[in-house]
Amino acid sequence: MPKRVELHCHSIFSDGTLTPAELVSRAVKNGVELLTLTDHDSISGGTDLFAAAKAESLAVRLGIEINCAGEGAADRVHILGYGFNPAAPGFAERLTEFRERRTVRSKRIVENLRALGIAIEFEHVRSGAHETLGRPHVADALKRLGVVKSRKEAFERFLIKGKPGYVESMGPSPAEAIALIRDAGGIACLAHPQTAGKENELDELHRAGLQGIEVLYSGHTPSQVRVYGDWAKAKGLLAVGGSDFHGPNTGREERLGIEYSDDAAGPVLERLQ
Ligand code: AMP
Ligand code: ZN
Ligand code: FE
Ligand code: FE
Repeated sequence: MPKRVELHCHSIFSDGTLTPAELVSRAVKNGVELLTLTDHDSISGGTDLFAAAKAESLAVRLGIEINCAGEGAADRVHILGYGFNPAAPGFAERLTEFRERRTVRSKRIVENLRALGIAIEFEHVRSGAHETLGRPHVADALKRLGVVKSRKEAFERFLIKGKPGYVESMGPSPAEAIALIRDAGGIACLAHPQTAGKENELDELHRAGLQGIEVLYSGHTPSQVRVYGDWAKAKGLLAVGGSDFHGPNTGREERLGIEYSDDAAGPVLERLQ
């Protein structure tokens, strides 16, 4: 029997629009058998996640997604972490530091937008966030101000590289993100490899200790699933996958979970139990 598994989604603790408890309810409705929350640079959703999962008898795990920075493809690398010990020495402190750097970046983005004559203030951005700040919160603030109609429009007009609001990511290097997760006993995987670059860049991540890549992904075509599945096999990487669900009004709000064949689910469920 194929299994519906979610290994990649976001809550209000980063740039999602549902609480962890709301994600749990929706996962149950969507037929998900295992739900993993992977907020950007935050594990604060864990308490709500585990409490709701107990009430609804759903299997859940706490993961993480760390957006990286650096030369070339590094600023498009997002590292997913699974199975780490959230209480490992220094782990939560590093995440706090990453979130502080995101605040600095968001303030700079606001300055760039103000220089364009948009009457946005940092408080508009911060007030829409629960914990981790990101460009989606700037996008939401622009939406509330009536400047754009969607997160997508805000990214395309202002927030992506080359657009006037853009500020470089201030995240860790991919090697630092991988080491942080592994040092806490976790498994480090590359999210949505289609944004991260070519095979030689994947090799570099592999040398830095990468253990898995997203093969099944809501945005992947069947041929991308084949290509990344072959990469995973060739390098001995775990083939993980998820939807990258962010919730209503984010443009990333389709059904939670991804259909895994028995062949795909077996190794993943074994490693992530
Ligand atoms: P940041 O972490 O601040 O660099 O923002 C990147 C995050 O914004 C990604 O992890 C996605 O969650 C989200 N994102 C990127 N592009 C888009 C888009 N076109 N529409 C909506 N959300 C996006
Ligand atoms: Zn996100
Ligand atoms: Fe991502
Ligand atoms: Fe994500």
